[in-house]
Amino acid sequence: MTLHAPYDPDNIFARILRGEIPSVKVWEDDHVLAFMDVFPQSEGHVLIVSRTSSARTLLDVEPDVLARLTAATQRTARAVVKALRPDGFQIMQFNGEAGGQTVFHLHFHIVPRWADRPLKGHGHAPMAEPATLRGLADRIAAAIE
Ligand code: 5GP
Repeated sequence: MTLHAPYDPDNIFARILRGEIPSVKVWEDDHVLAFMDVFPQSEGHVLIVSRTSSARTLLDVEPDVLARLTAATQRTARAVVKALRPDGFQIMQFNGEAGGQTVFHLHFHIVPRWADRPLKGHGHAPMAEPATLRGLADRIAAAIE
């Protein structure tokens, strides 16, 4: 998929937002949804998406939506750090297939990092058990301020 293509309303995240396929939610409001990545690159890998925008990449997104997404990413990262106590974390955001993007609904990744744990590959990590993700999501949600 190129950087410049129409938004596909049947992409996986659009279907998650419509409730057509399940996800493990961390928190949501009228503008954003934070949910667990089902192929986590590290324990506690969370995704942040807009509920209202049809932006595919950072190039398309409306500035007010981007502001809400970045604020939600910061809010969620604070909760991830409080709940899971990683040594650090990464914010990732991929654009276009050549840029590593695999789902074409704009999103930010929060990937907690521990000094002694290697990062699993983007797009190569094994699928996590829903119960494991639920437990992590509950801990992160409890730390949301
Ligand atoms: P991208 O490669 O577009 O930056 O990131 C897409 C992310 O979505 C990947 O990290 C991948 O593991 C995750 N992902 C793919 N399919 C699903 C799914 O059905 N549910 C959830 N929760 N995450 C998904």
